Amino acid sequence: MEMFQPPSVVSLDHILPQEPLLMMGAGPVPIPHKVAYANSIVINHLGETMNKVIEQVKEMGAYVFQTSSKHVLGVAGPGSAAMEMAICNLVAPDSRVLSICNGYFSRRMAEMATRVGGKVTVLDIADNLAAEPAQVEQLLKEGNFQTLTIVQGETSNTVFNRHLEAIARLAHSYGCMVIVDAVCTLSTMPLEMDRWKVDAVITGGQKGLASIPGVSLLAFSEQAWKRIEARSHTIAHWCLDALLADKFWNQKSYHYTAPVSGILALHEALRLVCEETLPRRFARHALCSKALQRGIEAMGLRLLVSEDVRLNSVVGITVPEGISGDAVRTHMSRVHRVEISGSFGPNIVRIGQMGEQSRAHNLFRTLHAFGSSLQFAGASLDLPAGIAELEKGLSNQSDASVAESR
Ligand SMILES: *Cc1c(COP(=O)(O)O)cnc(C)c1O
Repeated sequence: MEMFQPPSVVSLDHILPQEPLLMMGAGPVPIPHKVAYANSIVINHLGETMNKVIEQVKEMGAYVFQTSSKHVLGVAGPGSAAMEMAICNLVAPDSRVLSICNGYFSRRMAEMATRVGGKVTVLDIADNLAAEPAQVEQLLKEGNFQTLTIVQGETSNTVFNRHLEAIARLAHSYGCMVIVDAVCTLSTMPLEMDRWKVDAVITGGQKGLASIPGVSLLAFSEQAWKRIEARSHTIAHWCLDALLADKFWNQKSYHYTAPVSGILALHEALRLVCEETLPRRFARHALCSKALQRGIEAMGLRLLVSEDVRLNSVVGITVPEGISGDAVRTHMSRVHRVEISGSFGPNIVRIGQMGEQSRAHNLFRTLHAFGSSLQFAGASLDLPAGIAELEKGLSNQSDASVAESR
């Protein structure tokens, strides 16, 4: 019997572009140098060094989540793994779940809750609107729900659930625990886990936090942890079992081999957030995103979502009639070396404003690339007016934080 022969492949030098593309889509986002460097290191997953790193990741995580809970945990896996970890630990079989669905990602939570045996009621929010507390309260009154799932920023259609705080407080007053998906929003806009009465917040690495994809972070409230400790069933997800994960994250012992490099990267991403501080980081993201939005409108384009419920972290732009969004994006990557995202349905393209994406030089390059690629694809628009509006928006600031890049 002959062995299989090795395949004929080329090294990454032949596959990757010489200069990385500027990642200005809905994630993954560009990572700061410190994060990239940390991600290149391998250390022992147990022991003194790792313990110090984990302690700091938990402390910084608690700051970013705005919680005093001791249950900040990391998970090897995408934002969806953190989502599944929150859901499979908090949703017991046959318990009642209210899932507020604004789009693709919030629907994923409903799907996961169903798969773990929850009795899920979906509140479908149509027309790119935000969930309204009154609609939610109506259901809470009737439903005797144990868990509510909601997304803060729905990346798919760029809707912002601006009443998240009110909805979380309402759910809490009905004895219903709240799981919030903050993958694209965490550290880009306010979310105060303890004060808003949220029981679990999930996030990924590659969006708001500007770390790498594949290592994610979540936090459970003390109350949520009590529910987890008190459960009578054994959950089917061994890797995602919070009680097992707690061995690594709080008891300095082994669960599975932690993704050490990714945790080091996350450590650096969190440290940069702490160094900038949340208020300044929120202000930078808001300023940059608004300047971008006004620049896009000044070119003569329309944004998908009306301003009151529009997400800042990811901006959805309606593609003009007769123009192919894919053609625009292809031209942008090939000629300008800038990547933005397409969509999961509506005829839009999406530009991210998360982490390093919210820097002046990246915005100018992106808006110019976007405008000229649209023109190349046949759209008529006023590119100079857009750039001028962006410049005006960015100069409306008292400090130089939008320029600095680490
Ligand atoms: C990207 C995203 C997710 C999923 O994250 P993955 O890392 O792709 O699993 C979930 N929710 C929101 C709001 C997102 O933007």
